[in-house]
Amino acid sequence: MCAKNTKLKLLTFRNMASIFTRIINGEIPCYKIAEDDNYFAFLDINPLAKGHTLVVPKIEEDYIFDLSDETLAGMMVFAKKVAARIKEVTACKRVAVVVLGMEVPHAHIHLIPMNSEADVDFKKAKLELTKEEFLEITSRLQIVE
Ligand code: AMP
Repeated sequence: MCAKNTKLKLLTFRNMASIFTRIINGEIPCYKIAEDDNYFAFLDINPLAKGHTLVVPKIEEDYIFDLSDETLAGMMVFAKKVAARIKEVTACKRVAVVVLGMEVPHAHIHLIPMNSEADVDFKKAKLELTKEEFLEITSRLQIVE
């Protein structure tokens, strides 16, 4: 009985949509930057810098290198478009491309406006932006096609 319950719980856990899938499906709000048939980009809620954006595939896979070659390659091409917008809007030197995946088990790329290496230190305190600030940067970054 106990083993059966544990198995059921495990199955339920594995079948639960990730928080990013729930964002993509519109079940959880986000500051959306871009979307196409296969990918989605939105602001990181705990940003290292204004414009810190996450790019995710709509297909739910935990580890980025478990994605198919096609999905992984397409994700980078999609991220390139978003990064170009971030660079233009924030006037940063470069847009850093970082993959951690320690917190959310849904493959994603962090795109972070960067002027020096110190801007990409995940140990430093995150920015605490107001809703208005998030909305303002969203409206400047948003790619509508
Ligand atoms: P990691 O999995 O280590 O790459 O970290 C996950 C990132 O997702 C962190 O930077 C979080 O701030 C971000 N994050 C988690 N939940 C949300 C959310 N609901 N909306 C936007 N960003 C989120």
